[in-house]
Amino acid sequence: MNIHEYQAKEILNSYGIPIPRGRVALTSDQVERAAKMMGGRCVVKAQIYAGGRGKGGGVRLIHHPEEAQEYGKELFGKNLVTVQTGPQGLKVRRILVEEAVEIAREFYLSITLDRSSSRYILIASADGGVEIEEVARKNPERILTLSIDPFIGLRPYQARKIALELGLSGSICEDCVELILNLYRACLEKDCALIEINPLVVTKAGWLMAMDAKITFDDNAVYRHREYPDMMDYSQLDPLEINAAKYDLAYIKLAGSIGCLVNGAGLAMATLDVLHEYGGEPANFLDVGGGATREKVAEAFRIILQDCDVEGIFVNIFGGIMRCDVIAQGIIEAAGAVGCNLPIVVRMDGSQVEEGKKLLQESGLNVQIGSSLGDGAARIVDMLKREVC
Ligand code: ADP
Ligand code: MG
Repeated sequence: MNIHEYQAKEILNSYGIPIPRGRVALTSDQVERAAKMMGGRCVVKAQIYAGGRGKGGGVRLIHHPEEAQEYGKELFGKNLVTVQTGPQGLKVRRILVEEAVEIAREFYLSITLDRSSSRYILIASADGGVEIEEVARKNPERILTLSIDPFIGLRPYQARKIALELGLSGSICEDCVELILNLYRACLEKDCALIEINPLVVTKAGWLMAMDAKITFDDNAVYRHREYPDMMDYSQLDPLEINAAKYDLAYIKLAGSIGCLVNGAGLAMATLDVLHEYGGEPANFLDVGGGATREKVAEAFRIILQDCDVEGIFVNIFGGIMRCDVIAQGIIEAAGAVGCNLPIVVRMDGSQVEEGKKLLQESGLNVQIGSSLGDGAARIVDMLKREVC
């Protein structure tokens, strides 16, 4: 689960990490008023669930309140496109107005989960700021990493080593040690999958400050924090993803034209790989999980049909726990209700498979049955090609 920069900064601040003075605005008049409060000179920042805003035109240094208002008008309602948003961008509905800080140096600092070692890993760089991806690509030796032992935790000497390697000394070095330890405490207590400060700056006046913040909470731990659901900004999410979550379905949007309905994450991955091999491009995948009911399959199918990019549907289900005739009924119910005549290929196996196939064949839908994963993938790709011709 993601939150906005201003919310992440509030959390950092509650752990003693200094942040710039700021106000969140919901209208361009509020942007103007907040800019006045900052004395006219300020930084206006679009709040979206993505980074890369600096380069994408979503962060601007402002000199007068009227200029802030104008920029607010330009930003509100706009779909801001950055390298992290995809071509559609994300709609700006909240704006953070902050004091403009005189920056001397910019660092990168984050703690995230390293899945291969099942540990938190601290990542730092003396070359922080908007070019961090470029640094990671061209000068990976400039990125410092430290794997954190979950039993021992992050020790002050380790934090000090990082601060020294960042080139800090004296009282700023000690401030940085404290900040790193506080960041780790926040990461643990708030159940973060990622907590990132980029840039962490040293101001011209000689203070450390978090100039940007990104936090992703671990979805599996959200139930432990009653305040988290209220922090969510649903306007930043794909409406189909919200709908899928309501029915406990895992829906992931992709860039192609074939909607994929599968059961189980492993089968989903295999389905996407095999589709690719046969020249197909998935538009999404929807995982209905192990013991899905007919209603759940129907809902999943409806969600796939609402995705405008879908030109054909590939259903790949192993009916170990699920019965294939139940799956077939769900598909027929959802497709029939909206009069769907898109090409559909169903590959299923397991209990009641013959009954399931029979139901589909007699359904009147534009459906073919795949005898194997490869055969199913080949069929849907072929059916789509014919549609185009
Ligand atoms: P993003 O990471 O999405 O590009 P940031 O919040 O990091 O957005 O802002 C981009 C850059 O703008 C920062 O690297 C920093 O140099 C500058 N910046 C951001 N906030 C301020 C601020 N309050 N005062 C001065 N400069 C800022
Ligand atoms: Mg940033």
